[in-house]
Amino acid sequence: MIEFQKDWVPENYPPIIIIGAGMAGISVALELKRLGVSKIILLDENEKGHEGPWITTARMRHLRSGKNLLGPATNYPELSFSNYYQRKYGNQSWETLYKIPNEIWNDYLLWLREELDITVENKTRVLRIDSQEQLWVHTNHGTFETEKVVLATGRHGFGGLKLPDWTKSFPREKYAHTSEPIDFEKLKGKKIAIVGTGASGWDAAGVALEIGAGSVDMLCRHERLHNVNKAINITFSGYEIGYYFLSDEEKLEFANIAYQNKAVPPFESVLRVKGFSNFHILYNCDLIPSEYDFVILATGFEVNVEQVPYLQNLKIDLWKNHLSELQKDNYSFASRYPYLGENFELLPNKNIYCFNYAATLSHGLISSDIPGIGVGAERLAKGIVKDIFLKYKSLFYQRLKDFDAAEFDLKLLKD
Ligand SMILES: Cc1cc2nc3c(=O)[nH]c(=O)nc-3n(C[C@H](O)[C@H](O)[C@H](O)COP(=O)(O)OP(=O)(O)OC[C@H]3O[C@@H](n4cnc5c(N)ncnc54)[C@H](O)[C@@H]3O)c2cc1C
Repeated sequence: MIEFQKDWVPENYPPIIIIGAGMAGISVALELKRLGVSKIILLDENEKGHEGPWITTARMRHLRSGKNLLGPATNYPELSFSNYYQRKYGNQSWETLYKIPNEIWNDYLLWLREELDITVENKTRVLRIDSQEQLWVHTNHGTFETEKVVLATGRHGFGGLKLPDWTKSFPREKYAHTSEPIDFEKLKGKKIAIVGTGASGWDAAGVALEIGAGSVDMLCRHERLHNVNKAINITFSGYEIGYYFLSDEEKLEFANIAYQNKAVPPFESVLRVKGFSNFHILYNCDLIPSEYDFVILATGFEVNVEQVPYLQNLKIDLWKNHLSELQKDNYSFASRYPYLGENFELLPNKNIYCFNYAATLSHGLISSDIPGIGVGAERLAKGIVKDIFLKYKSLFYQRLKDFDAAEFDLKLLKD
């Protein structure tokens, strides 16, 4: 077990509540503990080991990122994946490991949790947050009173799944989003459509074809596939640290370009389906759902606080309040993103921190994917640390005044 900085937070300060015990929640917990804030409770609606997508809806064979990334352990390399792996499987196995298998990454996150010795309340779903002087986090297992809440709620944690309109009047058993469980066994011999050309669509196609689907059509709205993943180009410390300090206009421009081709699959996912003669890409094509036995939606996620039931009691400043009419037209994607403060705090509340994909417009890609997650978690934790210190500044001042533990005995100098 790692020894962290001694906890300096006054005892009557309530635990920090982190909603979500996936990679982002664990990263924030790690950074808080590193900075001496150890009273933390993580809440997750899923059962232990099933937080995040890794062993459920992630259908690639291994992570898309490289194996050497520090991710959550950015400031604690001894807790890195490579250390974990080499200790468990040996150096030779590490040398030959191509990329990280999903299950092993999931095991690593569980191991991190053990090392951090953090409390996770699983099967605990947050239903509502009320904010007055304190915050009340209401769940299916009671209410937590706190002063700080972190929303580490994942890709769809600030708006839900993006679903086409036709789904409203289509039989539920005939379609699924890639982030939902899919019983592929039932798709044997069936005619399947995949809507969208993002990585998760290719991975779902791979599983369906391997299991014996009759045919898989991938529907692409464009004339060709995108094959340049711009986001790879922004995983360097200058961007991760400096992006927040760009002007709003500059952020909009960066974000507009960085995520414009977000539907780019990694080449391994493309290779996986390449050899199947019953796989086709239909370009410039709109879906007629009734022509298929089952439709898989690789349509991504919404950023829309109106669709997050437990945030409805809160006033939240959004980017739309900071955009000119022209900007609203030019950057239509931006309006619904939360407009965040320097440490990921939602405004005007400031005691609720948005640490999921919705933070990317304000902070860049440091609250969602592995490469920048440690940088983001540190920034957020420092904000909480600063606030606790300022709240109790007179106590710390008094303690400083009263402090009289001698470094040495003055009598030492006599004779
Ligand atoms: C299929 C897939 C593959 C990916 N592969 C990679 C990759 O290779 N490399 C990379 O860098 N990134 C990858 N990502 C992106 C990113 O790393 C993952 O989405 C990762 O899971 C993000 O971690 P997180 O903690 O933000 O979210 P999650 O892991 O999704 O965790 C969020 C948690 O919040 C909980 N939660 C949400 N709402 C509530 C609520 N109301 N009450 C209680 N609990 C709640 C959920 O149960 C969940 O466990 C991938 C994403 C997906 C979807």
